[in-house]
Amino acid sequence: HPTDGKVYDVMVAGGGPAGSSVAAFAAMQGHRVLLLEKEEFPRYQIGESLLPSTVHGICGLLGVTEELESAGFVRKRGGTFRWGSNSEPWSFDFALSEKFAGPTSYAYQVERAKFDQLLLDNARRKGVEVRERCAVRDVLEDDGRVRGVRYTDPDGAERAVHAQFVVDATGNQSRLQRYIGGQRRYSDFFQNIALFGYFEGGRRLPSPNSGNITCVAFPSGWFWYIPLSDTLTSVGAVVRKECADQVRGDRAEALAALIADCPLIADYLSDARRVTSGRYGEVRVRKDWSYLHDTFWQPGMALVGDSVGFIDPLFSSGVHMATYSALLAARSLNTALRGDLGERECFAEYEARYRKEYQSFHDFLVNFYDVNRDEQQYFEVARRVTRDTAPGAGAFVGLVGGGASDEAALTSESYRDKRKKDLLEQSRAVHHEGHRIQLQAAFGEAVDDTPLSADGLVVSQDGMHWEKSVTSSTV
Ligand code: FAD
Repeated sequence: HPTDGKVYDVMVAGGGPAGSSVAAFAAMQGHRVLLLEKEEFPRYQIGESLLPSTVHGICGLLGVTEELESAGFVRKRGGTFRWGSNSEPWSFDFALSEKFAGPTSYAYQVERAKFDQLLLDNARRKGVEVRERCAVRDVLEDDGRVRGVRYTDPDGAERAVHAQFVVDATGNQSRLQRYIGGQRRYSDFFQNIALFGYFEGGRRLPSPNSGNITCVAFPSGWFWYIPLSDTLTSVGAVVRKECADQVRGDRAEALAALIADCPLIADYLSDARRVTSGRYGEVRVRKDWSYLHDTFWQPGMALVGDSVGFIDPLFSSGVHMATYSALLAARSLNTALRGDLGERECFAEYEARYRKEYQSFHDFLVNFYDVNRDEQQYFEVARRVTRDTAPGAGAFVGLVGGGASDEAALTSESYRDKRKKDLLEQSRAVHHEGHRIQLQAAFGEAVDDTPLSADGLVVSQDGMHWEKSVTSSTV
């Protein structure tokens, strides 16, 4: 294979939200980054309902806040559910959690073709060399280390490229993750199938909830109803495995029959017509999405986004997990490339933090699928799985807004300030005066992260690296 000559610091396969974010975060630290994307953008993707942690946290760090604001995406203040033992729909606002309270307590419903293009263009502007229509085929390995990839270029020629680190961000269909070792472990619990299409003219909830995602339980599973503009709505049925028969045959007819089985959605769509041409003209099916890979990295290579794992569309955690994993992995890459810490330690930190967030969503979702409970019981489950004591809907909204990790980068400014004060107070209570002064000298105003374990790492002051925790060292 002809090689591209250059040796890159980081080579990212896949230009979805995970790939474009990890690539930008590495390029922003001055590293030489190449991103290879199989398709030509804009391309269709599902996963349209975002969380505040992504919109204000990750997108803020990426520097696309204003661009997002002017893209005209529908504002999502929260969610509306006809779910559980309550026969009436109930709603929550992101503002109910102190983690998102304030001017940033909303997210967006996005057309992914536009959103993903915006993030990929931003990666280019941040210095990433992006090549579309380049499909990565496999990895180059030498001496137990991944050292690059082989890919097919737009002319169909086979090429190779070398990099110090390869990141697989090729999503759900990833074939590269098999080079990492371990296995994709599919969930025994989440075995649903989704059938989805797009409608013009569906009803909107009254203001201020008109941009909410609506989720409605019905006998075969549940529906999502996501307003993508004043008139366009994404509608999907998530059907239990036992009801798979209802998804067979003609897809448009199957979707219409499922809608007829769900009175609330049928009512919302009573004056609407399904889009039958263009990007949104198809009724699509997705299944086998709930899994977690049991290895996250090997020397020279890491997995991010859907290539590592996904749980379930309920609560819209996909893009949050994809972009949060990109941030965590980028810190590991940046730290290892700068030579501050070894890659083992850096990627172990990524894995530990990702697993914690995944577990919170997973455990909460397993309980939420028990539709015999009411909202208060769901809120209690959220308190239990996140160990967040916030009263009422607070812990629940903190989790489903993407803030369970307490990551400073993902939460509102007011919450960050409060948390900094709390952490300093704690260090005052726990450590003797000399230690406290050292802590303050080391971190100054930046004390906003605690290690996950006694030997865990903390986020550096610039937010883009890991470093040893002062509290866990011998000072
Ligand atoms: P992707 O977005 O899949 O991007 C991967 C990219 O890699 C693609 O552009 C692809 O073309 C490229 N690629 C693939 N193979 C190669 C190759 N060999 N070489 C180079 N490039 C390659 N998430 C939400 O946040 N909100 C939702 O409402 C939501 N709803 C969902 C509903 C359903 C039914 C499903 C299944 C998922 C949903 N998700 C949702 C999840 C969301 O779709 C994903 O989590 C998210 O797209 C993952 O981003 P990613 O960057 O990891 O992967």
